[in-house]
Amino acid sequence: MNTATVLPMLDPRLVGEHWENYEGTSSFGVFWRATRLNHLHRRDLRSFLHLSLRAGDDAFARLTRGIPQQAALRFSFPKSEFIEKSYWRPEEWWPFGGPMPFEQMSWRLRVCPVCARSCYHSLLFQMPGVVCCPWHGVALIDACPKCESPLAVDVQRDLPVGRCRCGHDLVDYVASVVGEATVRGHKHTAIEDHLQRAASSRGRTWLIAPEEFDDRAWTALHWFGNSSQKTGTLLSERVELDHSVRFTSSRVGPKSGLESAQPSLVALPLEWFVAFQRIGAQLLAMVPREHLPTLVGPASDMRRAFGQLPAFPGSREMYLSTEVLDRSVLRCAGLLAAIVANSTGRRTLVQPGLRQRIWDNTHGLRLVDALVRRILTRGYADGLRVALGRHVPALYDAQHHRPVRRLPWVLLDLPEGELPSARIGWTRQRGTF
Ligand SMILES: [Zn+2]
Ligand SMILES: [Zn+2]
Repeated sequence: MNTATVLPMLDPRLVGEHWENYEGTSSFGVFWRATRLNHLHRRDLRSFLHLSLRAGDDAFARLTRGIPQQAALRFSFPKSEFIEKSYWRPEEWWPFGGPMPFEQMSWRLRVCPVCARSCYHSLLFQMPGVVCCPWHGVALIDACPKCESPLAVDVQRDLPVGRCRCGHDLVDYVASVVGEATVRGHKHTAIEDHLQRAASSRGRTWLIAPEEFDDRAWTALHWFGNSSQKTGTLLSERVELDHSVRFTSSRVGPKSGLESAQPSLVALPLEWFVAFQRIGAQLLAMVPREHLPTLVGPASDMRRAFGQLPAFPGSREMYLSTEVLDRSVLRCAGLLAAIVANSTGRRTLVQPGLRQRIWDNTHGLRLVDALVRRILTRGYADGLRVALGRHVPALYDAQHHRPVRRLPWVLLDLPEGELPSARIGWTRQRGTF
């Protein structure tokens, strides 16, 4: 018989019932401190915390979103005031309107190395734009400071949370007994401040995530959360409306066909054609000269370059073959077009909350038009390059002209009584297409 089965019979009390210095702690933080203070191993979790984690489980993800796991922790620490304030719900901390994109972004544990000494973790550290601990001012980490392997909760190997395989331990037992009292006031202010700002931002913004998982999601999310955070793998665009132009004729029609988000031929405002034409001409100009005679006659002969004409003008509208667009780009534009469409398009695309906010804002529909145009033109430029790269592999040799695949993350800002705006973060994807 081993200790894991004997201990419950002795009915010992768990160490660490006082949480005064742990305001804002996450469910994971509670788990962390409880397991470290009480030296709990995986087999003890059920008896002591009424919690079961399977080998191979991502404990951080489970504790963030798992209802039974959180209920178990509440049961183990019933009288703690920190539970009442729903600090365990990521949605309370999340600063953007719309559903949280759990399926599209990674959810990697981030800690403050100073807070980690006392096993303190808050969902605040997981939020877009938060890259430093607000009360210690030190950069948050998601890897071991000594060997740089990712911070992991290794249930399988029964490694205590905060201790790395290399032996480095972020946790100090004594510091975890009482927590850090000196930063209590500062912590309280920073948490209240963040929660308030996040709630007000959720009321006026809306985040549209790409449909697929994006391992570079955080480059866009951090930029949305804090404009000074930008990396070379992100292409950032701002879409702003002009005060002077109150009405625009270049509107996406209610029957554009774009709202289906299926590869097809869609009808767009004729005024947009010039932009698409310029993109095509620029692209053909990029093709190394020696490839030009065999591929195309005049530089504008898009039809021969692509075997079809991806964009062409009609008498009242222009037409765009959306086959050339990346799936995620088409879906993003389709979701926006569904807001103005007669029929609401594919059921899965409709986000009723977003639709409501757009229609409630005086200039909401104008913003949608400007956004659709920006997304389609950028998506067209990227998509054409990928398509052409298949015929002209030499495009890959030139660093500057390399075909790339980018996923659009869109944050709309619809403040009441002010002009709406949006930001698009295009995350550059790895690989050759
Ligand atoms: Zn800290
Ligand atoms: Zn390490």
